[in-house]
Formats: sequence, structure tokens, C-alpha cells
Amino acid sequence: MTDSSLNISIKDVTKTYGDFYALKDVSLEVTSGEFLTLLGPSGSGKTTLLMVLAGFTNPDYGSVKFGGEEVVLKPPHLRGIGMVFQNYALFPHMSVAENVAYPQKLRGVSKEETRKSVEKALATVKLQGLGHRRVDELSGGQKQRVALARAIVFQPKILLMDEPLSALDKKLREEMQIELRQLHDSLNMTTVYVTHDQKEALTMSDRIAVINDGQLMQLGSPNEIYQRPKNAFIADFIGESSLLPAKVKGGFATIGSKKLKIAQELKKDGDFMLVVRPEKLFIANKKSRDANYFEGLVEDSIFQGESQLMVVKLNLENYGEVSLRLRLPNGSTNVGELPRVNEKIILGLKIADSYFLEAANGRD
Ligand code: ADP
Ligand code: MG
Repeated sequence: MTDSSLNISIKDVTKTYGDFYALKDVSLEVTSGEFLTLLGPSGSGKTTLLMVLAGFTNPDYGSVKFGGEEVVLKPPHLRGIGMVFQNYALFPHMSVAENVAYPQKLRGVSKEETRKSVEKALATVKLQGLGHRRVDELSGGQKQRVALARAIVFQPKILLMDEPLSALDKKLREEMQIELRQLHDSLNMTTVYVTHDQKEALTMSDRIAVINDGQLMQLGSPNEIYQRPKNAFIADFIGESSLLPAKVKGGFATIGSKKLKIAQELKKDGDFMLVVRPEKLFIANKKSRDANYFEGLVEDSIFQGESQLMVVKLNLENYGEVSLRLRLPNGSTNVGELPRVNEKIILGLKIADSYFLEAANGRD
């Protein structure tokens, strides 16, 4: 299939409200056909950036190009984008079909063509046969599908979605994540998706743009963002992690008097932080050369269904006490082997999993 979707080029986009920067010099390229997620905490500027792409918000300065064409001054209805809002923004008194037909009506599309496109869009979101229903008779998940059908009814090349699943319960949300991603793949669009849910972003995206305080903090694949977070904010926001301050010198890291091996290429010596993900830690029965080890005491052990979460207290010489979280899968082989609270254990962390980030890349 030839790729008829469009790339999006965002350059130096800045938006202020008074002296508050909602967006600050954001530059970002979205590749044609890509599923890109804007991920950040509440108030970080995600919606503002999406509204700049849609044309509902004018930036103070900066450029937005769709397929090479400058659109920053173009009104929303001429941008050819499909849009799904967080609160659905459906007309409650109208039928499903009337809601989905609405963009076609605005564009002056003929009745017959509209009918066909509505039918097709409803089938795409698995609502065929429900066109006559009133929107206020539908469940939350169905309403979200109607909003989606309305967004894709005119086959846009760019689809923008702002937290479209946040009103749904967890199970339905997780099903819809997979469905939305499949829909994106089958419809050949460029999708920009907004969420504050890191797991959702990791599940759905080709690439993730992490936004905080109106600024782009890191852009990368889910794997890169998770395995190699660029600063403490991202390490903390995405997945679980414990951060231990470490000093790097001469190819080794030290935390207090504890010496750790490093596999990573670090460009200089100085202050770093060891990022420890709970699932990277393991319980060591004997020590080998390819890992770093910590002796600790099990403080807490919590059954969480598919995994067991343990809090392990370390007492590091010349540093003090610190707690690490350890996550073990709850497989049948583990039964009876899990350490108990107050048991002394040795935690291992593969050198390859011992990721250090520069302390200066912190929140400041
Ligand atoms: P997000 O979608 O990431 O939660 P928003 O883009 O909605 O964040 O908002 C980013 C920041 O800009 C917030 O602090 C918000 O209060 C502020 N903001 C957004 N719109 C306006 C507005 N019209 N007037 C003043 N402040 C605004
Ligand atoms: Mg928002």
C-alpha cells in the first residue's frame, strides 16, 4: 500500500498565557504513518500542543507543517484532521448515524456518499447496525466508538486523540488500546495521541514524546524511553524506579563505600544516579562477575496477582539506609521459594541492567 498519510513538522512552538509558558520551544517531527504519543503529567501542555495541531489554539510563535505545507494560520476545518476529544463531544439528542455524519454535512458531501461513509465508519469501529440509536442510550465504550467513527468518517490523513480512553474502566481501556492501535495500522493515518498514562503510551506507540512543564523532555521508542530515560523525571514518571545517587570515577561507581561495576559508556566522571527497576533485580544465591550485588533485609512482601512486590532495605556503609523494590513473577516455580519478611537476602542487578544517568539532567 502506498503511504498517503502525512508527516507533521512542529518547530519552535511556544504558547504563553500571561507570563506562564504552556508550551516552550517545542520542536518535533512526526513521521508519516506513525503513531506518536504525547505523554506527560496533568498540566504539562499536552492538550495545548494537540490544540495547536488542530488549529483551535494559535501559538505565540512557531511553525506547524502537514506534509510540508505550513498550516499554522489555517482554521481547523480546513486542516483535514480527524479529532477525538476526551469528553466525546457528541450531540446527545442526535442519533449515532447523525453524529457520525456531522463532519460530512459540514463539508457538503452528498447524502448518498455520506450514508455510505457513515456505514463504513460504524463498521470500522464495530458499531454496525447501531446507527439509529440515540447517543444517550449508549455505554461509555460505545460513545467513544461513535466519537472515533465521527473522526475517521472522511478518511483523514491525520488523526488527533486527546485522552480518548480515560473515561473507560481499566479492562475496556486495555482492550481499546489494542483496537485503536490496530485501527491506526489499517487506516494508514498519522496519529498523535495524548495520554498521561505511561503504560498506555508504552503499549500503543511507535514513539513517545515525553512532555513536562511545556517542554519536550525526551523523544524515543517505548523501549528507549523505558530502558534509557534521559533524566530523573522520566525515570520516575515511566515505570517504577528507585534512584540511588552514585559517584562515578575511573570506570566504577560508588554509593557510599560500595563499589559497582559499569557496562555503560559514560562520557565523564562525576555525580550520577543508578536507576533500579523492580523487575531487573533478582535474588542471588551465588555471585557471578556479570552483576552488582546488594545485601538487604526484606521489609515487606505484597501479593499483586501476577507478581510479588518486595521492599528490601539496604544499609550501605558510609551512605545509610535505602529501600529498593523488587518484583518477582508469581509463577508456580516460585511457590514456597519467596523470601519472607525479615529474611536477609542478596539482590543482584546485571551490570548490563545497571543504568546510570547524569545527576545534572535532573528536574531543575
Ligand atoms: P495537559 O493537557 O497536559 O493536562 P494543558 O495543555 O491543558 O495540560 O495545560 C497546560 C497548562 O496551561 C496548564 O497549567 C493549564 O492551566 C494552562 N492553560 C491551558 N489553557 C489555558 C488558558 N486558556 N488560559 C490559561 N491557562 C491555560
Ligand atoms: Mg489535557
